[in-house]
Amino acid sequence: MKKNFKAPFLFASYLYILKNFSLQGSAKICSLNLYTKYFMQFFHFSSGPAFLPPQIHQEIQAACNPKTSSKTPLLLISHRSDEFLSLIQQNILLAKKLLDIPDNFHILFLPTGASYHFYLSALNLLPPLHSAAFILSGYWSKKAYLAAANAGHTYIAASSEPDNFNHIPKKLNLQQNTQYLHITSNNTIYGTQFHQLPDSPVPIVADMSSDIFSKPIDWSNLGMVYACAQKNFGIPSLSLVIIREDMLGKTQKNIPEILDYQAHINSNSVYNTHSVLQVFVANRMLEWTHKQGGVQHFQHLSKQKSALVYQAIDENSLFNGTCINEDRSDMNICFTLPTNELENAFENHAENLGLSGLRGHRHLGGFRAALYNPIPLEAAEKLAEAIRTFKG
Ligand code: PMP
Repeated sequence: MKKNFKAPFLFASYLYILKNFSLQGSAKICSLNLYTKYFMQFFHFSSGPAFLPPQIHQEIQAACNPKTSSKTPLLLISHRSDEFLSLIQQNILLAKKLLDIPDNFHILFLPTGASYHFYLSALNLLPPLHSAAFILSGYWSKKAYLAAANAGHTYIAASSEPDNFNHIPKKLNLQQNTQYLHITSNNTIYGTQFHQLPDSPVPIVADMSSDIFSKPIDWSNLGMVYACAQKNFGIPSLSLVIIREDMLGKTQKNIPEILDYQAHINSNSVYNTHSVLQVFVANRMLEWTHKQGGVQHFQHLSKQKSALVYQAIDENSLFNGTCINEDRSDMNICFTLPTNELENAFENHAENLGLSGLRGHRHLGGFRAALYNPIPLEAAEKLAEAIRTFKG
């Protein structure tokens, strides 16, 4: 019934797209596919850039369109305008409220991805004759470790690499004069997550790119948190950086201004030309996160969603979860099937049910379902159903 009701609407929309955007050949077909999929409960489980709530797409379109926007179209706004400075300030306040960030932390929204902070965190926080310890729990934590080594002395305090990163290593070997311990709170590619922060005698610096805003944060032993936007709060090329005041100013290095967190703090996150679109999308996403019920709501929802999918994986003997149960991520669920043929067949089965973006990382293969905040419970139910009903 529902689909019949939608058919005339979709056809009219298709005609509208063809008329108004005068696309050619395959682009027309592609536009129909995308448009149809979005309105027909199509769910995209990609690990980033991730699924955005449809209303956010509409808000972006309206803000960018010179015909419909009552204000200056978004892409023409100067990063020095009052409008933009107010957006950044709103984002800082929203992040502070959502994550209950204490007053002794600086909050920055910077026009970079998370990878920049692999190096910048060490450059800004690591004094001479001190070390940064790293927990290697997956691909990104190893990248962070290798990048930081260019800025000072680093070492591995624990690693699950010999076990193909199938768990979170728990036993730490910390050396003297360790300035901080770096972790990746959620391993986007391998599908494990720190369900609580490690017990560490030194402050923790955490890359929370793929689970920030999905649960409350315990700030008591955190020195710094950073995260890219494209999972839970926006689109690529924006990062959120949260630094405890006393972590800064100890390096005795002459850091070039553009790489110096203090310069970004001094200029209220607007040191140079900013990514206005990214900041706007983050603003809409943070507001949306707040309206949905904040991080407590998403913590509860994430647990519900991941439990449904893990249960289905565990019940169908054709599927194998790739991580040990206690460290399984609520954000990125990794699984495999025994052969390539079965994996291709499952991908088709899922696509036919309107579920896409499930293939694993290019280095790893298998499957990976990202259950970030914008993925509704209904999508997890559909995915669990797809896994349960797959017979090969
Ligand atoms: N850290 C983690 C945990 C990630 O998942 C990613 C991206 N998937 C990154 C860092 C790198 O982010 P960016 O591409 O924005 O530099």
